[in-house]
Amino acid sequence: MALGPVQSGPVSDQPNPPGTPRGGLYLSHPACLEHDPRAQMPLHPDTPERLLAIERRLSERQWLGWERREAPATEESQLELVHSRRHVEAIRELCMAGGGAVDPDTFVGEASFRAALHAAGGACEMTRALLAGEAHTGFCAVRPAGHHAEPDRAMGFCLFNNVALAAETAIRELGVERVLVFDWDVHHGNGTVEAFRDRPDVLVAGIHQSGIFPGTGSISDVGSGPGLGHTINLPVPAGSEEDLWISLLEHIVLPAAGAFQPQLVLVSAGFDAHRADPLAGCLLASTSFARMACQVREFAEGLDIPVGAVLEGGYEPEALAESVEATLAALGGEGEAESVAPDALLTSRAASHIGRYWPL
Ligand SMILES: [Zn+2]
Repeated sequence: MALGPVQSGPVSDQPNPPGTPRGGLYLSHPACLEHDPRAQMPLHPDTPERLLAIERRLSERQWLGWERREAPATEESQLELVHSRRHVEAIRELCMAGGGAVDPDTFVGEASFRAALHAAGGACEMTRALLAGEAHTGFCAVRPAGHHAEPDRAMGFCLFNNVALAAETAIRELGVERVLVFDWDVHHGNGTVEAFRDRPDVLVAGIHQSGIFPGTGSISDVGSGPGLGHTINLPVPAGSEEDLWISLLEHIVLPAAGAFQPQLVLVSAGFDAHRADPLAGCLLASTSFARMACQVREFAEGLDIPVGAVLEGGYEPEALAESVEATLAALGGEGEAESVAPDALLTSRAASHIGRYWPL
């Protein structure tokens, strides 16, 4: 899809005809550039250049008409909506001591704690703004990412779970009763699943490549206790192309989400399923993310609820930047959802697990 010119202008509450591009809220903070795992591992893929590439590209497009806001630092107490105090203190103390390894992939330096406070704070602030009606959509370009961070454990480049914190902010602070988290990062969002595994008020649905980090996310894991059916794990094989991803979104995730009737959609927006990404083996293009974003946007428009996306992975900076641009354009109203046929094998296999809980 060629991205055409996008109208720019202030965020507005005025209703727009369907398909009319409109801006959203873009949150980031310079502190997010200061987290740099290369101090401990020189070839680490999570570089500040990822954010710089996104911002360079968006600035060339006049930010697509989106309103830019600073991602504020969250209070440490807000982190405890999801994380144990022990975990928060351990990360803070490791950073204050100059940094080090959390696990073989995850490193922090002195500036990482502050970066993580702004990353989490951005996701929470975006949620507050969306639910206050300040915009219909938002995007947080923050790092470190969050979706691997479990309540009591940092892992997989993630310190605190930004999206889970945003969902809890919506529920506990703002009175939202049901939140959909859709995770399109190529890696399974184990942290988000664990945060809400036994909860019926957050539907966590994700598509990820099977057989890679972190190794969780079996299709048969559908949550626990009162949360049974509220975890939807959709693993796909290496080499999967966009039609399979969109098929699972259109024919599994969105029908279940429609029955769930969320009041807010949060997207764990990783872009490492891109074919150029060095960490995984799926074959999406930048436009594939726009196609998924159109599906999500139209779903949310149908319920008249906001959509907020938070950056997770994506490790080839130019592919990442192009994918984020395509996603923002689509979330802002460009393009229309295009229906794809159900995948013969995986959609029916997923339906046999998920269809016990939701009308698909
Ligand atoms: Zn990832």
